[in-house]
Amino acid sequence: MYSTSEKLFERAKKSIPGGVNSPARTFDSVGGTPVFFEKGKGAVLTDSDGNDYIDYVGSWGPMIMGHAWPPVVHAVEQYAQCSTSFGSPTEIEVDMAELVKSMVPNVDRIRMVNSGTEATMSAIRVARGYTGRDKIIKFEGCYHGHGDSFLIKAGSGALTLGEPSSPGVTEGTAKDTLVAQFNELESVQELFENNEDEIAAVIVEPVAGNMGCIPPADGFLEGLRSLCDDHNSILIFDEVMTGFRVHPGGAQKRYGVDADLITYGKIIGGGMPVGAFGGKEDVMSVVSPDGPVYQGGTLSGNPVAMAAGATLLRELHKHPKHYEDLEEKAQHLIEGLERVFSEHDIPHHINHVGSMLGVFFTDREVNDFKSASSTDQEFFKKFFHGMLEHGVYLPPSPFESWFLSTAHSESQLDKTIKAAEETVADIAQS
Ligand SMILES: *Cc1c(COP(=O)(O)O)cnc(C)c1O
Repeated sequence: MYSTSEKLFERAKKSIPGGVNSPARTFDSVGGTPVFFEKGKGAVLTDSDGNDYIDYVGSWGPMIMGHAWPPVVHAVEQYAQCSTSFGSPTEIEVDMAELVKSMVPNVDRIRMVNSGTEATMSAIRVARGYTGRDKIIKFEGCYHGHGDSFLIKAGSGALTLGEPSSPGVTEGTAKDTLVAQFNELESVQELFENNEDEIAAVIVEPVAGNMGCIPPADGFLEGLRSLCDDHNSILIFDEVMTGFRVHPGGAQKRYGVDADLITYGKIIGGGMPVGAFGGKEDVMSVVSPDGPVYQGGTLSGNPVAMAAGATLLRELHKHPKHYEDLEEKAQHLIEGLERVFSEHDIPHHINHVGSMLGVFFTDREVNDFKSASSTDQEFFKKFFHGMLEHGVYLPPSPFESWFLSTAHSESQLDKTIKAAEETVADIAQS
């Protein structure tokens, strides 16, 4: 059934580390061979063997309107005709910046980069340059890309592979990253007290999405805001996943808390390699060439990538009803899954914020790294492979969020619930 993927993976392993260009793609935590895909349309993916799947990875976030959404495809074709890159300013970059500003009122200036990783790396450099301090606070299980400073107790691929901290990060770098517990303000307060006048920034995923989906507890984001205010530190919301996903204005708008710097990725590129960081004029004024904090990129603001991202953002900006639609779809899927799991006495806990879902096989509430790690990983493996056989493509790790798109139809959601039913029944029999 997967013979072409298996052959491709054998080939890939000979030339690419682990056969993949990003560790989150491996099947190491579930076993088996990663599926090689050939095309996607709406909510459906087709692999190299011609098998179809209903997709809940959505390229890890960008595909909020589904795969190969015609306006994005058209924009890419149109812009590519006029050259794929200039390395000089283009109008679409200005359009993109204005568009983000209109969606996120506390962004006065925004700089485009090529990935979420670049966005977060640049944001902490700006925070350090602005405050003249070195240390940052991050949260255990939060993932901010593969920048050295963030590979300390990180989530996503790092967590899946059981290496939340990476060799190759120098001691000097590691000592400037302090780690607090998500949803636990006291742990942040303690770090501030023990490092008086040394904390440049607190960086957080306002909705944690890289240890499954974990919403912020009531008052958590507000608490971070006031701690940063009290200690003259910069609050960075890493909205690479939540930006334009949980609300047209991102998590800031959804929860009514403003950060000083915000990072974007994923949706902002419409599936092309794009990231961005932005914030208030005051903080962003230190960015070169206005200010002394250097940051640049040959392909940053690439016109084809901007065209794809801006097309997607315009749609989300113009039609906020998409978010109600996504919420309804999420509710429908969750109700169905909960019914199936309950009927089969499977311990489960499903978190969601809009179209971001965290499906945990555990009997406890999941609100931090510790509880996210309490899930039944063996059960997840079986569930994952059962769903795959039934034509449902889930993220190949218990620590990743599932994503819905506007393209997921009710019948596809029902098919997914039925697949879960059959999978769970099969597991019970085996
Ligand atoms: C995906 C992700 C990143 C990294 O983005 P890349 O484009 O993979 O470099 C950073 N932060 C968060 C919250 C993410 O989800």
